[in-house]
Amino acid sequence: MTNTPSANPPERTAMNQLLPDFLTLGRASCTATPDLFWSRIPDDEQAAKSLCHTCPLLLDCQTWAIDQREDWGTWGGLTATDRLRLRRGNGWWVDLEGRIRHPCGTAQAIGQHRKFTDPCDVCEAAEAQRIEEQRRAVLAVEHALAAGGSVRGYDTHRRLGEEACGPCKAAKARASATKPDRPKGRARRAAQAAAAAGPLALAS
Ligand code: SF4
Ligand SMILES: [Zn+2]
Ligand SMILES: [Zn+2]
Repeated sequence: MTNTPSANPPERTAMNQLLPDFLTLGRASCTATPDLFWSRIPDDEQAAKSLCHTCPLLLDCQTWAIDQREDWGTWGGLTATDRLRLRRGNGWWVDLEGRIRHPCGTAQAIGQHRKFTDPCDVCEAAEAQRIEEQRRAVLAVEHALAAGGSVRGYDTHRRLGEEACGPCKAAKARASATKPDRPKGRARRAAQAAAAAGPLALAS
């Protein structure tokens, strides 16, 4: 296999003929399906990655492909695109299980941390900041209304952990004043139970 970038992949050859010596001892999971590991079709790449993650050679193979600057094929659970991302050094990383991970601080990274249950303070802080920015954007829209605020704005202030502004409080007060009185707590549950029991129960 060549390390020189080219427009086309090298000729397809049985994967085990391409592997370095330490990978040719019969334990590689890819030897039976070499074309799958050569494919650039996303579904094939995912299938190849899955097989890699059951392979005892995963980390050695991955290190080899990265060191070789291998341009083609899925090796050690990393596609050619994954390895390019690592080479570019823009925050992509490989975890201890050999999985390619999004740069910390991105929305995708927090999803991966949660999926793989490996908490990350950087990503949690970035996520909190994103949520706050989204809520501030909601507030900006609500404050631009003719009334200068709204019930949605009031709720958003509360979610931000701050006191609502005057117009939002006023909107909330107006909405509460026009809401029909509803029975609360035990009285409501009793009314619901009576309604469910039918007209006889209501009459008794
Ligand atoms: S890690 Fe993947 S590419 Fe490497 S030997 Fe195992 S199955 Fe083949
Ligand atoms: Zn992170
Ligand atoms: Zn407000």
